[in-house]
Amino acid sequence: MSTGELCIEGLRAGIPGREILKGLSLTVRSGEVHALMGPNGSGKSTLAHVLMGRPGYQIHEGAVTLDGVDLLALPTWQRARAGLFLAMQQPIEVPGVSLAASLDEARRPVPEGGAGPVPPDLDAELRAEAARIGLETRLLERPLNVDLSGGERKRNEIVQLAALRPRFAVLDEIDSGLDVDALAAVGLRVQAATTEWGLGVLAITHFRRLLDVLRPDVVHVLSDGRVVATGGPELAELVDRSGYAAYA
Ligand code: ADP
Ligand code: MG
Repeated sequence: MSTGELCIEGLRAGIPGREILKGLSLTVRSGEVHALMGPNGSGKSTLAHVLMGRPGYQIHEGAVTLDGVDLLALPTWQRARAGLFLAMQQPIEVPGVSLAASLDEARRPVPEGGAGPVPPDLDAELRAEAARIGLETRLLERPLNVDLSGGERKRNEIVQLAALRPRFAVLDEIDSGLDVDALAAVGLRVQAATTEWGLGVLAITHFRRLLDVLRPDVVHVLSDGRVVATGGPELAELVDRSGYAAYA
């Protein structure tokens, strides 16, 4: 069981000429679920991208650490190796590479003089994970996300999460594009991971429906690049009822 923390401290970041995150702090511990809500354009996806190291963003101030390891100093692949995972709001198409093949590569041990052995039972594991969240197993062999529906792409991300067993996962609107049944299955899968291996979750969402299944320990409201409210699950209900106007 993993224990540790993903710590974001005073993060100021943006794109050239524009600051989007204006001093954001929050800490997610292993096994915890934090929901991050906030109006369109408040910087939620920017946070996700900055955490994972997407090119094009500038860090002005602040720190992001995973168990004390400075993530911002690392290239994206090493952040992943350190245990960070991002389920993208809009998963990209990767023609020519199947989900199974990409996970096969990703799960190889860090090469110190050559690729290590392939984990033997990846195939069976992927099939079980796909079945668990209602993803057709034939899609595991298709080019990653190519011609898939929004809901299939989101489920794809969750199969990756389950296969890679990261220590912390940022889920950027994992609920968008999912029908109610898929939403419940995905929410339950992620919730189970918090006890199965102590996954810590930062779930970006607009909707309380996801949080009925994936139960948050802490809810944050982001407005204009800052956390303007933090509370328990009741905060998500309040936002659901009253919207974001009170936090503008
Ligand atoms: P959210 O996910 O909360 O809806 P985003 O983080 O996607 O918000 O965007 C925050 C603001 O920053 C928006 O106004 C968006 O247009 C802008 N922004 C984010 N990334 C970029 C980028 N790479 N280039 C230009 N503008 C961007
Ligand atoms: Mg977004």
